[in-house]
Amino acid sequence: MRILVTGGAGFIGSHLCGRLLHEKHDVIVVDNLITGSLDNIAHLAGREDFHFIKHDVSNFIYIPGKVDIVMHLASPASPNPNSPFGYPQLPIQTLKVGALGTHNALGVARAHNASLLLASTSEVYGDPKEHPQQESYWGHVDPVGLRSVYDEAKRFAEAITMAYHRYHGLQTHIARIFNTYGPRMRLDDGRVIPNFLCQSLRGEPLTIYGDGNQTRSFCYVDDLVDGLYKLLLSEEREPVNLGNPNEISIQQLALTVNHLTQNPAGIQLLHDQRAPGDPQQRQPDITRAKDILGWEPQIDLEQGLMKTIEDFRRRL
Ligand code: NAD
Ligand code: UDP
Repeated sequence: MRILVTGGAGFIGSHLCGRLLHEKHDVIVVDNLITGSLDNIAHLAGREDFHFIKHDVSNFIYIPGKVDIVMHLASPASPNPNSPFGYPQLPIQTLKVGALGTHNALGVARAHNASLLLASTSEVYGDPKEHPQQESYWGHVDPVGLRSVYDEAKRFAEAITMAYHRYHGLQTHIARIFNTYGPRMRLDDGRVIPNFLCQSLRGEPLTIYGDGNQTRSFCYVDDLVDGLYKLLLSEEREPVNLGNPNEISIQQLALTVNHLTQNPAGIQLLHDQRAPGDPQQRQPDITRAKDILGWEPQIDLEQGLMKTIEDFRRRL
C-alpha cells in the first residue's frame, strides 16, 4: 500500500512510519513541522519507500501518484499553556488543522479512492463525568475554554469523518487516542512525562500542577501504534478507544519517575499552575478494541518509562 501520513514528523507519526515501512508499505509524510521535527524521521531519509513533503495540510493537499490509505495525525497535541508548542499558544492553527486539515485529508482520500484513519483523542470526552470512558459517552466539554481549540476541532474532525463515511461511502476509522508517551517526544513539549523526565534527569524537583490527585492512564507508543495498525486493517467505522487502562495519579507518576531516575530532588506542588478545564480523571475502557481488534497494551509503565528515559538521557 502507498500510505500518506499527515503529521508523520511528529512523535506518534514517526513511530507509525517506522511500523508501516516495517510492514512493507510505501510512506509519504506531509508535515509543516510546527510541533514536529525532521530529527524524528532523519533515520528514514534516503529510503526509496519513504518520502517527505513539507506542507501545511490546512491548505489544499496535492499528492502525485496513487494513495491507498490516508492516516491523519497532523495537529498540535500538548495542552500546556506554558510551552510554545502547546495548543493554547497555537489556537488558530489547531482549530484549522482539526477542521480544514481534516477536510483536506478526507478530500485526498476521496480523490484517490483511499481509506482514512483519523487520530482523534480522549479529549472529545472533555473533563469526563463517566468513568472509565466508553466510546458511547458523549463527553463533558467546555466549548470556549482553553482546551476548546483542540477538543472542538477534534469533535468536528470526527463528525466530518463520519459524514464522509455516511454520505460518500468512504472507508474511515476513528481512533480515540489516550495519553501516549515514549522516545522522540519533544523535550520542551510541556506534557507531563517529558516535563518530569527532563526535570528528574537534571536533578530538579518535579512540577506537579495542583495537588497531583488528578489521574491519567499512560500508553507506551509501540502499543499505541500497534492498535492504530490493527484498526486500519479492520472494518470498524465507529470510534475506538486506544490507550492503556492502567490509571495512576500524577503524584504517583512523579514518585515513579523519581524512583526510576534516582532523583533525590522530590516534587513541588504548584497549585496555581493547574489550568482551568484540566480533566480530573481519565481512563479508557478498551473493551471495544479488545473485542474487535484483539488489541491490548503489552508494555507496562515502568518498562515504557525506562525506554523513554534512555532516549531523553541521550538527547538532554
Ligand atoms: P506531535 O506534535 O509530536 O505531532 C503532530 C505532528 O503534526 C507534528 O509533526 C506537527 O508538525 C504536525 N502538524 C501540525 N499541524 C500541521 C499542519 N497544519 N500541517 C501539517 N502538519 C502539521 O504530537 P503527537 O503526540 O505525535 O500527536 C499526533 C496525533 O495524535 C495528533 O493528532 C494528536 O491530536 C493525537 N493524539 C495524541 C495523543 C498523545 O498522547 N500523544 C493523545 C491523543 C491524541
Ligand atoms: N502536569 C503536571 N506537571 C507538569 C505537566 C503536567 O502536574 O509539569 C499535569 C497536568 O496538569 C495534567 C496532567 O499532568 O493534570 C497531564 O497533563 P498533560 O499535559 O500531559 O496532558 P493531558 O493529559 O492533560 O492532556
